[in-house]
Amino acid sequence: MRCFNIFLGRTLDEYPVIQTAFLFLGIDPEHLTVEHAGRVLRSPFLPGTEEEMTGRALLDAELRAGGAPYVSFSDVIGLARKQKGTRGCPKLVTLLETWSETYRTLQTSRLPSDWAPVLSAFLRDIGWPGDRTLDSIEYQTLETWGKSLTDLANLDDVFGRVPLHGAVDALRNLASVRQFQPESAPAPVQILGVLESYGFRFDRLWLMGLHDGAWPADPAPDPFIPVRLQRRYGLPRSSPNRELESTRMHTDRLLSSAPSVVVSYPEREEDADLDVSPLVRMLPETSAADLGIPPPPPDDGEVFRGGEEGSTDASALEVLDDHFGPACDDVALRGGTFLFKLQAACPFKAFAELRLGARALEEPEPGLNALDRGRLLHRVLERVWGRLKSHGHLLAMTQEGLADLVRGHVEPEVRRILGGRLARSPRLAEIEQARLVRIIGEWMGVERQRKPFTVVDQEEIRTVEVGGIEVKIRVDRVDRLENGKLVILDYKSGDCGPADWEGARPDEPQLPIYAVTTETEVAAVLFARLRTGGLAFRGLAESPGIAPGVRVPERQPPIARTISGWRAVLDELGRDFREGRAHVDPKDPAKTCRYCTLPSLCRISQGAVVLEEPEVDRG
Ligand code: SF4
Repeated sequence: MRCFNIFLGRTLDEYPVIQTAFLFLGIDPEHLTVEHAGRVLRSPFLPGTEEEMTGRALLDAELRAGGAPYVSFSDVIGLARKQKGTRGCPKLVTLLETWSETYRTLQTSRLPSDWAPVLSAFLRDIGWPGDRTLDSIEYQTLETWGKSLTDLANLDDVFGRVPLHGAVDALRNLASVRQFQPESAPAPVQILGVLESYGFRFDRLWLMGLHDGAWPADPAPDPFIPVRLQRRYGLPRSSPNRELESTRMHTDRLLSSAPSVVVSYPEREEDADLDVSPLVRMLPETSAADLGIPPPPPDDGEVFRGGEEGSTDASALEVLDDHFGPACDDVALRGGTFLFKLQAACPFKAFAELRLGARALEEPEPGLNALDRGRLLHRVLERVWGRLKSHGHLLAMTQEGLADLVRGHVEPEVRRILGGRLARSPRLAEIEQARLVRIIGEWMGVERQRKPFTVVDQEEIRTVEVGGIEVKIRVDRVDRLENGKLVILDYKSGDCGPADWEGARPDEPQLPIYAVTTETEVAAVLFARLRTGGLAFRGLAESPGIAPGVRVPERQPPIARTISGWRAVLDELGRDFREGRAHVDPKDPAKTCRYCTLPSLCRISQGAVVLEEPEVDRG
């Protein structure tokens, strides 16, 4: 049995089962956000949730991956019908069909007294609140929900005939002002707010948080009523005097509502020192020890404390070193270059994402996201260079001919990659097409300034072995110079430079992986930065002039030596991954963790994590 009960008197609309009812009542099956569709799919308050949990979760992931911000129930049903076996969701399909059909009957205006049974029947028809056994709190919540529907039915004279959303808004307002505290099993400790404590007498009472900044509280007049009027009529929180007076009253009442009363206050809040409230300063001071409270454990960063060595304490906790997951030496490991990128950025992230499959669901965005833009750019460049084939042919083309060539590839690629989203936002497609034609046209001006080359590979997938891992690698483009040496290229739209390949934890290991596994001599490894206003080559070249803007410093080591350094770094990263190295060790916490979706899994914010590299004996 729980020894305490939190008595806070939440309003009815704050309970999950009621929030879900309002969500369902507000959904238009023909047009809903992917977020709302996901909440329907993941809701425990619909029938079939337990049997179809996996299938529905996969549907949610698939909808998000589709990239469209809005969907319809027909879209969801279409996808659900394709899922078979253990992933099938037949109950969901039936449910959504019923939902769509019933929703159509809700499109006429009605009196609130008609809406109350109609809304109730609609929720029942779609199966809310589900087929699992309700717990006591949910059961009581539904009883109170019934009372709110009765209240709605009494509002005919106030609202007259209203459409669906008017009735739902009225019901929501009623639920938002109905205080509701479910009955719970008796508990010896009751945690109450000041107002909830009215009328009670206690065996013992502890008043917490009575510091000089909170007791009395600062006045907070209602911003919509003139302060002068509020003060004249003594409205709560309208003036310091009003607050002082009511807080004095509360203090007297609380101090006399139990034979034993303890008052406490915090000594600090963030950087501010706090003092006891002047309203209780006259009470005799006592200490935690006098009250029989043991001192708190030292704040040494340990989350749990087990028994001392040799102690017979049955609750002693086992200490588990989780810096390494199981090694996978006997397993053939496959992956992409992303594996090395993750392992370099944060070993835990690599382990969690690639071995545990802990990846966040995608968040659909209106319009195109960075991934869509990148795919489009890559595809069009691949097509254009597929036709041009060499620097010589590029030079032979007129500006108009080149513009026509680019335009001819942009339009079908936009249609292919944007797919159904194009139909929903044709203007978006036009803007993207114009952007691509302009940026690729300008980029070709930069390519014209290079030494002669022939394109030998584009987006070709190769399987190579690095650090004991079979890596599928796809490099954007490989050119061959007249001397037979290769130039390896990666298209980028963000910040990039040779610093991304440096050190033991390279940010962008893709080109180094290609460079260390190619048998032909390499003359340059380059980022092609296609960013509006910042078109440029960035990277390493063995001699000046291979690409405009890429300097060759006097003391630059030969490229072959740099590549062999990369080999050692990549082997080490591959070995770490195979050994299951999973330290919570972001390369640059401010940057690496910023967009990471795993902080709740790695618990880096708990501060119980040692970020330094522990000693590892590699034998
Ligand atoms: S939040 Fe930071 S430390 Fe945690 S997994 Fe992500 S990158 Fe690693």
